[in-house]
Amino acid sequence: MIRFDKVVKQFGDHVVLDHLDFEVARGDRVTLIGPSGSGKTTILRLLMTLEKVNDGVVWVEGEPLSHQRKGERLVPASEKYLRTMRKRIGMVFQQFNLFPNMTVVENITEAPIHVLGQSKESAVRRARELLELVGLAEKENAHPNQLSGGQQQRVAIARALAMDPDILLLDEVTSALDPELVADVLDVLRQIARDTDITMLIVTHEMKFAKDVSNRVLMFDKGKIVEEGTPEQIFTAPEHERTSRFLKAVL
Ligand code: ATP
Repeated sequence: MIRFDKVVKQFGDHVVLDHLDFEVARGDRVTLIGPSGSGKTTILRLLMTLEKVNDGVVWVEGEPLSHQRKGERLVPASEKYLRTMRKRIGMVFQQFNLFPNMTVVENITEAPIHVLGQSKESAVRRARELLELVGLAEKENAHPNQLSGGQQQRVAIARALAMDPDILLLDEVTSALDPELVADVLDVLRQIARDTDITMLIVTHEMKFAKDVSNRVLMFDKGKIVEEGTPEQIFTAPEHERTSRFLKAVL
Protein backbone atom coordinates (compact mmCIF):
# COMPACT_ATOMS: atom_id res chain seq x y z
CA MET A 1 0.00 0.00 0.00
CA ILE A 2 2.73 2.45 1.08
CA ARG A 3 6.41 1.81 0.42
CA PHE A 4 9.37 4.00 1.25
CA ASP A 5 12.28 2.87 -0.92
CA LYS A 6 15.66 4.22 0.22
CA VAL A 7 14.14 7.61 0.91
CA VAL A 8 16.52 10.43 1.71
CA LYS A 9 15.23 13.77 2.95
CA GLN A 10 17.50 16.54 4.04
CA PHE A 11 17.12 20.19 4.91
CA GLY A 12 20.39 21.83 3.90
CA ASP A 13 23.14 19.59 5.33
CA HIS A 14 20.84 18.09 7.93
CA VAL A 15 19.87 14.55 6.85
CA VAL A 16 16.46 13.91 8.40
CA LEU A 17 15.63 10.59 6.67
CA ASP A 18 18.60 8.46 5.79
CA HIS A 19 17.86 5.82 3.10
CA LEU A 20 14.66 4.90 4.87
CA ASP A 21 12.90 1.67 3.84
CA PHE A 22 9.56 0.51 5.16
CA GLU A 23 6.21 -0.80 3.98
CA VAL A 24 2.69 -0.41 5.26
CA ALA A 25 0.03 -2.90 4.15
CA ARG A 26 -3.56 -1.95 3.32
CA GLY A 27 -5.61 -1.66 6.49
CA ASP A 28 -2.52 -1.44 8.73
CA ARG A 29 -2.61 0.95 11.69
CA VAL A 30 0.96 1.99 12.19
CA THR A 31 2.16 4.26 14.97
CA LEU A 32 5.43 6.09 14.49
CA ILE A 33 7.25 6.82 17.74
CA GLY A 34 10.62 8.30 18.50
CA PRO A 35 12.31 11.35 19.98
CA SER A 36 11.64 14.87 18.80
CA GLY A 37 13.38 15.53 15.52
CA SER A 38 13.62 11.85 14.51
CA GLY A 39 11.70 12.50 11.27
CA LYS A 40 8.16 11.28 12.03
CA THR A 41 6.33 14.38 10.81
CA THR A 42 8.59 14.57 7.77
CA ILE A 43 7.38 11.09 6.75
CA LEU A 44 3.75 12.25 6.93
CA ARG A 45 4.57 15.45 5.03
CA LEU A 46 6.24 13.43 2.25
CA LEU A 47 3.06 11.35 2.01
CA MET A 48 0.99 14.53 1.81
CA THR A 49 3.42 15.73 -0.90
CA LEU A 50 4.06 18.82 1.21
CA GLU A 51 7.77 17.96 0.98
CA LYS A 52 9.87 16.44 -1.82
CA VAL A 53 12.37 13.59 -1.41
CA ASN A 54 16.05 14.25 -2.13
CA ASP A 55 16.56 10.64 -3.19
CA GLY A 56 14.64 7.36 -3.25
CA VAL A 57 10.97 6.86 -4.09
CA VAL A 58 7.72 6.88 -2.12
CA TRP A 59 5.11 4.47 -3.54
CA VAL A 60 1.37 4.28 -2.90
CA GLU A 61 -0.57 1.28 -4.25
CA GLY A 62 2.21 0.52 -6.73
CA GLU A 63 2.19 4.07 -8.10
CA PRO A 64 5.02 6.49 -7.41
CA LEU A 65 3.99 9.40 -5.20
CA SER A 66 7.24 11.31 -5.08
CA HIS A 67 7.66 10.95 -8.86
CA GLN A 68 5.59 10.10 -11.91
CA ARG A 69 6.14 7.53 -14.60
CA LYS A 70 7.35 8.56 -18.00
CA GLY A 71 7.55 5.35 -20.00
CA GLU A 72 10.00 3.19 -18.04
CA ARG A 73 11.52 6.11 -16.19
CA LEU A 74 10.50 8.01 -13.07
CA VAL A 75 10.59 11.77 -13.41
CA PRO A 76 9.74 14.54 -10.92
CA ALA A 77 5.99 14.69 -10.40
CA SER A 78 3.99 17.53 -11.92
CA GLU A 79 1.53 19.55 -9.82
CA LYS A 80 -1.36 18.05 -11.79
CA TYR A 81 -0.18 14.49 -11.02
CA LEU A 82 0.29 15.34 -7.34
CA ARG A 83 -3.22 16.79 -7.13
CA THR A 84 -4.65 13.47 -8.32
CA MET A 85 -2.52 11.37 -5.97
CA ARG A 86 -3.26 13.60 -2.98
CA LYS A 87 -6.97 12.84 -3.17
CA ARG A 88 -6.29 9.36 -1.79
CA ILE A 89 -4.68 10.66 1.36
CA GLY A 90 -6.28 12.54 4.25
CA MET A 91 -4.35 14.30 6.97
CA VAL A 92 -5.32 15.66 10.35
CA PHE A 93 -2.90 18.12 11.91
CA GLN A 94 -2.08 19.14 15.44
CA GLN A 95 -3.53 22.62 14.82
CA PHE A 96 -6.87 21.60 13.19
CA ASN A 97 -6.40 24.06 10.28
CA LEU A 98 -10.13 24.62 9.74
CA PHE A 99 -11.22 27.52 7.51
CA PRO A 100 -12.27 30.13 10.11
CA ASN A 101 -14.71 31.99 7.86
CA MET A 102 -16.71 28.87 6.96
CA THR A 103 -19.28 26.94 8.98
CA VAL A 104 -18.61 23.38 10.08
CA VAL A 105 -20.60 21.89 7.22
CA GLU A 106 -18.91 24.19 4.70
CA ASN A 107 -15.50 23.13 6.01
CA ILE A 108 -16.39 19.49 5.46
CA THR A 109 -18.02 19.87 2.04
CA GLU A 110 -15.51 22.30 0.50
CA ALA A 111 -13.10 19.72 -0.93
CA PRO A 112 -15.68 17.05 -1.88
CA ILE A 113 -17.51 19.70 -3.95
CA HIS A 114 -14.51 21.55 -5.42
CA VAL A 115 -11.93 18.77 -5.69
CA LEU A 116 -14.05 15.63 -6.19
CA GLY A 117 -16.87 17.40 -8.06
CA GLN A 118 -19.65 16.06 -5.81
CA SER A 119 -23.02 17.80 -5.87
CA LYS A 120 -23.67 20.08 -2.92
CA GLU A 121 -26.61 17.93 -1.92
CA SER A 122 -24.67 14.67 -1.70
CA ALA A 123 -21.65 16.35 -0.06
CA VAL A 124 -23.93 17.81 2.64
CA ARG A 125 -25.64 14.44 3.14
CA ARG A 126 -22.26 12.74 3.69
CA ALA A 127 -21.06 15.61 5.93
CA ARG A 128 -24.11 15.07 8.16
CA GLU A 129 -23.34 11.34 8.47
CA LEU A 130 -19.77 12.17 9.41
CA LEU A 131 -20.85 14.80 11.93
CA GLU A 132 -23.05 12.13 13.50
CA LEU A 133 -20.03 9.80 13.63
CA VAL A 134 -17.87 12.39 15.41
CA GLY A 135 -20.71 13.40 17.76
CA LEU A 136 -21.26 16.93 16.43
CA ALA A 137 -24.53 16.68 14.51
CA GLU A 138 -25.91 19.77 16.24
CA LYS A 139 -22.92 21.96 15.31
CA GLU A 140 -23.23 21.94 11.54
CA ASN A 141 -23.85 25.68 11.28
CA ALA A 142 -21.35 26.77 13.91
CA HIS A 143 -18.11 28.53 13.00
CA PRO A 144 -14.79 27.06 14.23
CA ASN A 145 -14.29 29.84 16.80
CA GLN A 146 -17.55 28.80 18.48
CA LEU A 147 -16.17 25.29 19.11
CA SER A 148 -13.78 23.85 21.69
CA GLY A 149 -10.41 22.55 20.50
CA GLY A 150 -11.62 18.96 20.81
CA GLN A 151 -14.73 19.75 18.76
CA GLN A 152 -12.63 21.51 16.11
CA GLN A 153 -10.36 18.48 15.91
CA ARG A 154 -13.38 16.19 15.45
CA VAL A 155 -14.56 18.44 12.59
CA ALA A 156 -11.07 18.17 11.07
CA ILE A 157 -11.34 14.37 11.27
CA ALA A 158 -14.77 14.48 9.58
CA ARG A 159 -13.33 16.77 6.92
CA ALA A 160 -10.50 14.32 6.17
CA LEU A 161 -12.95 11.39 6.00
CA ALA A 162 -15.28 13.29 3.64
CA MET A 163 -12.69 12.77 0.90
CA ASP A 164 -13.07 9.01 1.38
CA PRO A 165 -9.29 8.56 1.64
CA ASP A 166 -7.47 5.22 1.39
CA ILE A 167 -4.92 6.50 3.86
CA LEU A 168 -5.40 8.69 6.93
CA LEU A 169 -2.38 10.45 8.42
CA LEU A 170 -2.70 11.69 11.99
CA ASP A 171 0.01 14.02 13.24
CA GLU A 172 -0.09 14.62 17.00
CA VAL A 173 -3.82 15.26 16.78
CA THR A 174 -4.32 15.56 20.52
CA SER A 175 -1.27 17.52 21.56
CA ALA A 176 -2.83 20.97 21.22
CA LEU A 177 -5.86 19.93 23.32
CA ASP A 178 -6.69 20.40 26.97
CA PRO A 179 -6.39 16.99 28.66
CA GLU A 180 -10.14 16.65 29.29
CA LEU A 181 -10.86 17.07 25.56
CA VAL A 182 -8.43 14.39 24.43
CA ALA A 183 -10.62 11.38 25.28
CA ASP A 184 -13.46 12.31 22.89
CA VAL A 185 -11.06 12.73 19.97
CA LEU A 186 -9.33 9.41 20.71
CA ASP A 187 -12.72 7.67 21.01
CA VAL A 188 -13.65 8.88 17.53
CA LEU A 189 -10.36 7.63 16.11
CA ARG A 190 -10.73 4.26 17.86
CA GLN A 191 -14.18 3.94 16.31
CA ILE A 192 -12.82 4.73 12.83
CA ALA A 193 -10.07 2.16 13.33
CA ARG A 194 -12.69 -0.40 14.37
CA ASP A 195 -15.30 0.31 11.68
CA THR A 196 -13.26 1.06 8.54
CA ASP A 197 -10.33 -0.46 6.69
CA ILE A 198 -8.59 2.88 6.16
CA THR A 199 -4.83 2.54 6.39
CA MET A 200 -3.66 4.78 9.25
CA LEU A 201 -0.27 6.28 10.01
CA ILE A 202 -0.25 7.83 13.43
CA VAL A 203 2.29 10.06 15.10
CA THR A 204 1.38 10.39 18.77
CA HIS A 205 2.75 10.67 22.25
CA GLU A 206 -0.42 9.02 23.60
CA MET A 207 1.05 5.57 24.08
CA LYS A 208 -2.17 4.05 25.38
CA PHE A 209 -3.96 5.18 22.23
CA ALA A 210 -1.12 3.75 20.14
CA LYS A 211 -1.55 0.43 21.96
CA ASP A 212 -5.33 0.45 21.47
CA VAL A 213 -5.52 1.27 17.78
CA SER A 214 -2.34 0.18 16.09
CA ASN A 215 -1.20 -3.24 14.97
CA ARG A 216 2.40 -2.10 14.33
CA VAL A 217 4.73 0.34 15.97
CA LEU A 218 7.85 1.73 14.29
CA MET A 219 10.45 3.31 16.54
CA PHE A 220 12.56 5.98 14.85
CA ASP A 221 15.79 7.59 15.83
CA LYS A 222 17.86 9.91 13.66
CA GLY A 223 15.87 9.18 10.51
CA LYS A 224 16.13 5.40 10.73
CA ILE A 225 13.90 2.67 12.13
CA VAL A 226 15.65 1.24 15.17
CA GLU A 227 12.96 -1.29 16.04
CA GLU A 228 9.52 -2.39 14.94
CA GLY A 229 6.93 -4.80 16.20
CA THR A 230 3.44 -5.18 17.59
CA PRO A 231 2.43 -2.72 20.33
CA GLU A 232 2.74 -5.57 22.87
CA GLN A 233 6.33 -6.26 21.82
CA ILE A 234 7.43 -2.66 21.66
CA PHE A 235 5.70 -1.38 24.78
CA THR A 236 6.23 -4.35 27.06
CA ALA A 237 9.46 -5.97 25.84
CA PRO A 238 11.46 -3.59 23.65
CA GLU A 239 14.67 -5.17 22.43
CA HIS A 240 16.61 -2.04 21.62
CA GLU A 241 18.13 0.07 24.36
CA ARG A 242 17.16 3.27 22.49
CA THR A 243 13.49 2.21 22.52
CA SER A 244 13.54 1.41 26.27
CA ARG A 245 15.12 4.76 27.01
CA PHE A 246 12.56 6.61 24.89
CA LEU A 247 9.60 4.76 26.44
CA LYS A 248 10.88 5.37 29.97
CA ALA A 249 10.87 9.08 29.21
CA VAL A 250 7.33 9.21 27.78
CA LEU A 251 5.37 6.56 29.70
P1 ATP B 1 8.56 15.99 16.83
O1 ATP B 1 8.24 14.76 17.66
O2 ATP B 1 9.24 17.04 17.63
O3 ATP B 1 7.39 16.51 16.05
P2 ATP B 1 9.58 14.66 14.46
O4 ATP B 1 10.16 13.31 14.71
O5 ATP B 1 8.22 14.72 13.89
O6 ATP B 1 9.70 15.53 15.77
P3 ATP B 1 10.32 16.19 12.16
O7 ATP B 1 9.31 17.26 12.41
O8 ATP B 1 10.08 15.23 11.08
O9 ATP B 1 10.61 15.37 13.51
O10 ATP B 1 11.71 16.93 11.97
C1 ATP B 1 12.91 16.25 11.75
C2 ATP B 1 14.04 17.25 11.69
O11 ATP B 1 13.93 18.01 10.48
C3 ATP B 1 14.07 18.25 12.81
O12 ATP B 1 15.40 18.40 13.23
C4 ATP B 1 13.56 19.53 12.20
O13 ATP B 1 14.14 20.63 12.80
C5 ATP B 1 13.99 19.39 10.76
N1 ATP B 1 13.07 20.09 9.84
C6 ATP B 1 11.78 19.74 9.60
N2 ATP B 1 11.22 20.57 8.70
C7 ATP B 1 12.19 21.45 8.34
C8 ATP B 1 12.25 22.56 7.42
N3 ATP B 1 11.19 22.93 6.69
N4 ATP B 1 13.41 23.22 7.33
C9 ATP B 1 14.49 22.86 8.06
N5 ATP B 1 14.50 21.83 8.92
C10 ATP B 1 13.38 21.14 9.06
